[in-house]
Amino acid sequence: MDINRREFIKKGAIGGATLLLYPACLTKSEEGGYVPPELRRVSSSTLNLYRNEFDITRGTSTGYSPHCVNCKGNCAWQTFEKDGRIVREEQVGGYPQIAPDIPDANPRGCNKGALHSQSLYEKDRLLFPMKRAGNRGEGKWKRISWDEALQEIAEKVVDIGSKGEFDKMMVYAGTGILSPVRRSAALRFGSLLGAVRFNVASAVGDMFPGATVAYGISTVGCSSEAWYETDYLLIWGINPTVTRIPDAHYIWEGKYRGARVVSISPDYNPTARQSSLWIPINPGTDSFLVMSMIHVIIKEGLYDSEFIKEQTNLPFLVKVKDGRFLRESDLIKGGEENNFYFYDEKKGAAAKVRGSVGSSELTLDMGDARPSLEGIFKIKDSNGQDIEVTTVFELIKKETDKFSPEDTKEFTGIHPSIVYDEARRFAKANKAIIMQGYRVHKYFWGVLTCWGAALMLALTGHGGRRGGLDIDNEWGLGELGALSSPKPARFGSGFLGEWMDGEMWRSFLSHYNDEDLKRKARIDKGGILKQIDNAIKNEGFSYFGKSKLMFLFHDNRFSRNSAQKQTEKAILNSVELYVNVNYRMDSSAYLADIILPSVTNYESYEVRFDPGYGRFANMMIPPSGLKMPGSVKSEWEICMLLCKKIEEVAKRRGIGKIEDQQLKTTRNLDTIYEEFITVGDKEITDFKGVLEWVMARMPALQGKTLEEVKEVGFIVPGRAAGQTSPLYPDRPFYPFEFQVQLKQPYFTTSGRQQFYVDKDFYLKLGFATPTAREPIRPKKYPFAYYDPHTRYGIHTTWRMNKYHLRLQRGEPAIYINPKTAAVRGIKDGDRVRVFNDVGEMYVMAKLHPGTPPDTILIDHAWENLQFEEGKGYNNVVPGIITPLEIVGNYGHMSFNPFWDGNQITSEASVDVEKV
Ligand code: SF4
Repeated sequence: MDINRREFIKKGAIGGATLLLYPACLTKSEEGGYVPPELRRVSSSTLNLYRNEFDITRGTSTGYSPHCVNCKGNCAWQTFEKDGRIVREEQVGGYPQIAPDIPDANPRGCNKGALHSQSLYEKDRLLFPMKRAGNRGEGKWKRISWDEALQEIAEKVVDIGSKGEFDKMMVYAGTGILSPVRRSAALRFGSLLGAVRFNVASAVGDMFPGATVAYGISTVGCSSEAWYETDYLLIWGINPTVTRIPDAHYIWEGKYRGARVVSISPDYNPTARQSSLWIPINPGTDSFLVMSMIHVIIKEGLYDSEFIKEQTNLPFLVKVKDGRFLRESDLIKGGEENNFYFYDEKKGAAAKVRGSVGSSELTLDMGDARPSLEGIFKIKDSNGQDIEVTTVFELIKKETDKFSPEDTKEFTGIHPSIVYDEARRFAKANKAIIMQGYRVHKYFWGVLTCWGAALMLALTGHGGRRGGLDIDNEWGLGELGALSSPKPARFGSGFLGEWMDGEMWRSFLSHYNDEDLKRKARIDKGGILKQIDNAIKNEGFSYFGKSKLMFLFHDNRFSRNSAQKQTEKAILNSVELYVNVNYRMDSSAYLADIILPSVTNYESYEVRFDPGYGRFANMMIPPSGLKMPGSVKSEWEICMLLCKKIEEVAKRRGIGKIEDQQLKTTRNLDTIYEEFITVGDKEITDFKGVLEWVMARMPALQGKTLEEVKEVGFIVPGRAAGQTSPLYPDRPFYPFEFQVQLKQPYFTTSGRQQFYVDKDFYLKLGFATPTAREPIRPKKYPFAYYDPHTRYGIHTTWRMNKYHLRLQRGEPAIYINPKTAAVRGIKDGDRVRVFNDVGEMYVMAKLHPGTPPDTILIDHAWENLQFEEGKGYNNVVPGIITPLEIVGNYGHMSFNPFWDGNQITSEASVDVEKV
């Protein structure tokens, strides 16, 4: 059959594309004459062009790498090197499917990862050590040698260390290296120096204290395949279509399978658009919505009595008189404080709970006891007097009575019929997951929303294989303390540390008013400041004072903090030497005294497994022919060289061992190099050695060696990777199977999911059970202000990338509702000033109907450097902390990596005007 050129063109693009995509057609045409000769000639050359297009970028050697920038995606990429440079990356597509009825994970990746090879060589890449040549932040630098840089830093370390002022040094490893190998270098260096390290999760506002109240830990979540399998997925304050790109397909495939997907967010975002239902909630009123759903579940008897009797502290007895738990110390003189009671219907008497911290029986199994959920009972105390007690469930019922869907509508803006409908559907679902984003906990009452969500799941029996809370999944890495903390480090509270160092009380005092706070939070500004003081002095939250010497490793401290300009000034006022270790000139490196250039993804050895939803551990193995640009070094080598120089200086000055009285250890500046490189019985002097050490000690990696995985780029971890459930090779991961199926206690004081707290402060302010409160942002400025995560960066990483900027407005922009803009005389593309009493910023206005009329949105984490006068997106955000999160000395609610005051960033009010 002959086809002439005209006919061929008429057939359109399909025929052409087929020829291009399927070489077989051409071969056949060449053999059989399907295509006229002139077209054959065109097609052959076009084909060859496409065939050869990428040859040049396939390079001469290859490696593997994900991107360890606190991205929850964690995707394996193959990297290609040519002439010593990375020239290309391709997604690895070899992940095995875990089960025939669950979609596979291939390919993983996103727009950010796809351009990292180009980011490596952009103009903001740091290549050589640099020293400030003007004022801080003036942008004047001079290139110095590594030796000059190390000498100056080492002299300062020895100056401070020789006086025993270890707490005046800070070594802060930021979220830019959230992976065990690269991070361990900075942590190890800081630990040997006795320097301060902040709790990163709370410092950046990514902690979920609400989950800690309920479960004792906050690293709770599912693997992404569970999203596919669930029947009801409630997506709360998160936009996974944009922020969980390699995993989001599981949600939409699950919806296609028949799941109900409901999205709760003030703005109409891409996830809301794809969901079965979007619930457009007023910003910061989420605690009302969760309480109204619980109200419906309880009123309509949609709860699972058996589940809550065993798995929660809802049957626990509470004294009516003072609201405190009935404890063994009430019934027996000298009794254990952490032994609690329920009322056993079978025996008609109080019975001691198993599995609490005070119990010797480490099980939730209640044998043949029949705990009562409801009622008021009389129990004899240790003096033979009657004590009137009731159950936690009774108190929760009383509290939820206040929050009917009709009553909460005025706060949330949600019609009651929606609340009734969704609460019923949720309760009846076989498997249900509540996915909450970091955004939820950036509101003042996020702790209540998260705690309430845990209660909603518990009431409906959604635990273990029937679903659960999905907030911050972390896989078990095993014990790496010998690597990262060879000596006691100064572990400081995260946001409290930032608050104190940055003097954030200034913006707090100016922005909020007492009347509002008293009405909404039952505490005024003075009360909150007193609680902060109390947390540090009496309740175990660590703060070590301001630093004289500060090392930041891949941490954009001056971009992520509230009241940006005020905070920047307060921190830098006390710091005599500020060293920034980084691969690019970010807003924090820009303010440094000395910059040390480091490697980045693709140039490192690493295994990236955690945190995230994906179940695969991805390798970083640089291509063999890769040359390091400039004189960049790995973090391990940088710390090793620092230690060597510190040791030299200490020896020269005759500085020996120094007692660190506070942490009861000795700091050995004169032997610190030896200490650094000696890990157990091994001497490790390079990154590869660290990776091998880590791989040998992570049980989840099943003893795989670097040699074994270098051809595939990832490892399929074993069961040990799960912390609260096994990671089965052929099933999705849900949290707390050990508790629900095997009856092991939770990590709380009660040993159960905990929904009652009898700490004084909670009782006094009315927070003993989950409840709801109004947002505290002041009315003096008309717009709520918040900054959801963006498609174009993981925090500030890749935000200045030119390819990404081309896909946006090329500069920071706010989203403003067209109706609001019209009232203010603002047109799309206009320059506007956003301001309040804390600060101001100048940005472009982008008209966006999906933004509520009373709200100004801005994408999260632009670099300050991208704004006029460096006044960034956090310059209008006041410092604020939720006092509920800084009570301590209460079992699992005592300062620890899961319990700390979170940085709150979404309780600001702003105004906007056209410039
Ligand atoms: S940035 Fe994250 S989601 Fe994107 S490719 Fe890298 S690891 Fe994957």
